[in-house]
This record gives sequence, C-alpha cells and structure tokens, in this order.
Amino acid sequence: MQVSDELIRSVVQEVLTVMRQGPAPTNGKANGKAHAWGVFNDVAEAVAAASKAQREFERRGLEDRRNAVECIRRICRDQANTLGREELEETRIGRLVHKIEKLKVVADRIPGVEFLKTEAFSGEYGIALQEYAPFGVIGVITPVTHSLPTLACNAINMLAAGNALVCNPHPSGRRVACKGTRLFNQAIHQAIGIDNLITIIEEPTLESAQAIFDHREVRLLCVTGGPAVGRAALRSPKRAIVAGPGNPPVVVDETADLENAARSIVYGGAYDNNLLCIGEKEVFAVASIFDELMETMTRHKAVRLDVGQIEALTKAAFVPGADKQHPLVVGKDLLGQDATVLAESIGLKVPADTELMFGETEESHPFVDIEQMMPFVPFVRVPDVDTAIGLARKWEHGFKHTSIIHSRNIETVTRMAREMDTTLFVQNGPSTAGLGSRGEGYLSFSIATPTGEGVTTPLTFTRQRRATVVGSMRVL
Ligand code: NAD
Repeated sequence: MQVSDELIRSVVQEVLTVMRQGPAPTNGKANGKAHAWGVFNDVAEAVAAASKAQREFERRGLEDRRNAVECIRRICRDQANTLGREELEETRIGRLVHKIEKLKVVADRIPGVEFLKTEAFSGEYGIALQEYAPFGVIGVITPVTHSLPTLACNAINMLAAGNALVCNPHPSGRRVACKGTRLFNQAIHQAIGIDNLITIIEEPTLESAQAIFDHREVRLLCVTGGPAVGRAALRSPKRAIVAGPGNPPVVVDETADLENAARSIVYGGAYDNNLLCIGEKEVFAVASIFDELMETMTRHKAVRLDVGQIEALTKAAFVPGADKQHPLVVGKDLLGQDATVLAESIGLKVPADTELMFGETEESHPFVDIEQMMPFVPFVRVPDVDTAIGLARKWEHGFKHTSIIHSRNIETVTRMAREMDTTLFVQNGPSTAGLGSRGEGYLSFSIATPTGEGVTTPLTFTRQRRATVVGSMRVL
C-alpha cells in the first residue's frame, strides 16, 4: 500500500479524535469490544478504567464537568419513578414514595461545580490564588438504606470536583446501583465523550471492598455505612472520609410547641420507615408535658403501643448479637418495614395509613440503645430537661451525628447544642430540616461524622493548591 501524506494525516486525525472523545457509541460496542459502561467484576480493571477516564476529564474544562453532573441529575429526575421502584423491589426496605423523592432531591439539591470558588489573597507583594484540585480516583462504599441516591450524590460531588470513582455497593442494593452507573456513563459519554468516570463492582464482597481500600491508584475513600465499615476504612493507610452511623435523640421540654413537635417526630421518624441515619430514633420528654405529647402524637397518624405490645415488638425486632458488647442487634425481618407490618408481627391491626408507632419505655430499652431503623420510636419520661439532655448525650453513643430539640427556651437550646456536639443539630423541626428538607441548606447522603467533614460537598473531595505571583498582578 502506498503511504501518502494524506493517509498519515487522516490516521493521526482519527487517533486524536478517539483520544479526545473515546470510542464512538455504536450499539454499545467499540472496536468490537462491548462497553462496560462502568460495571466491572474486577477491582483492578475498574480502577484502571476510572483512572484513564479521570486523566482525560482533568484535562477538560469546567463546562464538561457541569455537563457530566447534569447527566446524573437528569437521569435521577426523569427516571426517579422507575429507579425508585427498582430500588425498593431489590432492597425490600423503606417506602416507595420516599425512594422516589430521594432521587428527585439528588437532582435538585446536591451541590455541583458552582460550589468550587477560587480564593484570592491580594497585597503589596502581589497575589496568591487558592484553588481546589481533584484527588483522582476515589473509592466509594454505599449503604443498602439509600443505594442509588448515595452513589448518585457522591458521583455529583466527586465529578464536580474533577474526580472519578470506583464503588463497592452494598450487595443487597447492587443491581439498582449498577443500572444507575450504566445510565450515568452512557449519558456522560454521549455528552462529553468519556466513559467510566463512575465505575462499580458488579458482585461486591468484603474482599472487593478491601481491594479498593488497598489499591495504590485509589487516592481517597468515602465510606457510608455502619460501625464495621467505618472501622475497616479507618484502618486503611489512605485518607478516609467516613459517614458513620447515628442514633439521633429528640428532647422535648415544657416550653415546646407540642403540635409541631409531634408532627415533626412523625415526619422525620417515619421517613422511608426510619432508614435515614438522621431520623428520630428515641425521644426524651419532660414529665410535665409527657402525656399531652403522647396524646398529640396520635393525631398525626401515629399509633401508641402499650407495655405488652412493645415487649412483643422487641422480641420480633431484635435478634441475639455476636458478642457480649452487642447482646441484641436489629433482625432483618422488620428492618425498614411499614408500620402496618410491624403491627401485624405482634397480631395488631392498625389503619393502613399509619405512619409511625410509638410508646413509653425505660431509658435502657433496646429501642433506645440500638439504631432500630424501623417506624417504632420509644418515648422516655424524664423529670426535667437537664436529665433529658444528659440521656440524649448518653444514648447518642458519641457518634456526634444528629440531635434534635423541641423547645422555645433559647438557653436550653444553646445548652443542648453545646452538650451534644453533633454534626447536625435541629431545633423545632423534623430531622430532615438539617439536610434542607423543611429547613435551609444543601443536601448530601454522606454526612461525615467521625472524620469531621460534615455534610459532604464537592469541596470535600478536593486538594487545595495555591499559586503565588510575586511583585505583579495586584491591579490596585
Ligand atoms: P452496613 O454497615 O451494613 O453497610 C454499609 C456498606 O459497608 C455496605 O456496602 C457493606 O457491604 C459495607 N461493609 C460492611 N462491613 C464492611 C467491612 N468490614 N469492610 C468493608 N465493607 C463493609 O450499613 P447499611 O445497613 O448498609 O446502612 C445503614 C448504616 O449506615 C446505619 O448505621 C446508618 O446510620 C449509616 N448511614 C450513615 C450515613 C451518613 O451519612 N452518616 C448515611 C446513610 C447510612
């Protein structure tokens, strides 16, 4: 074959196009090889693909980041009904209306590229610019309680900051997470020509999680889940952002608006059948308003259980734990189930629209101690608000996650905020207000508690870099 200048130019052109855009999206195949669209069996392959994608992404401008993030938002918004239903069918915990809503809020309220603001310092020596650079590939672990919402939320934050990610999803929520990953990558590839910015392990195991923790090219970890995975991530030599467990207490004092307190406890405690880590898990109410508060709860679609019914539910809800430190743990049967299912388990028939069940217990009851993640909330009668705050602190277990108060006494509110030292503190509203639902502020599905980053944003997933110009560029 004659090799002409023309031929060389056209080959070089084609190579450059492929390097810039990735292979053409023809019927899911490129160069005869099927697209994985981010879904891999092997951690090494997933990290290699994410790494390659990230290097290309880093060369692009902010507009491509905005486009990539918009693809995730659009899919969460447009396909919330289908994906929400699929998440519920796969995980079998929570409520359809909230599975759908959680995807819609991902679309609307997770911060993106606009969150990355350059800081400037200007003075007689010149200027310094402080900018927020990506880490590279981030290892992500997601919980079963919000499988796709957590993945989508993490992906928006991380891509906005210029990163790529490799996710080990919870095995019981992996199918919907893999489907979301495919949809996101297909849309992003079509929009900016890069595949595999979001990668995921199709058959996740503890070993694949560990392989992600150990991989040299994974620069940072973001782990959302209970105590075991938090501890595992913190043992890794690389930096881990840990969104750990909670057991949010609610204090109600004698100055509270009881109507608002009851409405808020029902809304937050019943949301997605109390799967939210921020959701109301136990209430400490002062004796002088205790009975009135209990009565008010029943006007907000909450059903009160008596002592015998609570003990029956305790037997149905908890199973023996593995060690002395955890004599009881939450069983799978009632976790995340509807209030009507909890009632049925103890032979009780309650109205079909029951949101929450509740009842009076001792302070040391398993429902107070353990993060139950089901729509039953124990109420503990206490003599005064200082006792309530003390018990709230004790049973929050030092997670420093979320606490809530209903009070109109600003000194009491301030005292509790100081004593609890929790990442989220909500006054006179449902727990969800702490994440901007019926309250102000932005949202994340990963609230980094033990490691202190708080409600994660794109900035959480950046490295600070500073460029200094000496002797010029100050224009004043
Ligand atoms: P989980 O701890 O059972 O699982 C979370 C993830 O960790 C899963 O992907 C699981 O496969 C993995 N995992 C568990 N043990 C591991 C280990 N030793 N090594 C590696 N990976 C491991 O939690 P869950 O039931 O899926 O989610 C509920 C928990 O997560 C609750 O405790 C809740 O409070 C917490 N949570 C916290 C936040 C937050 O933002 N702080 C958000 C959602 C959920």
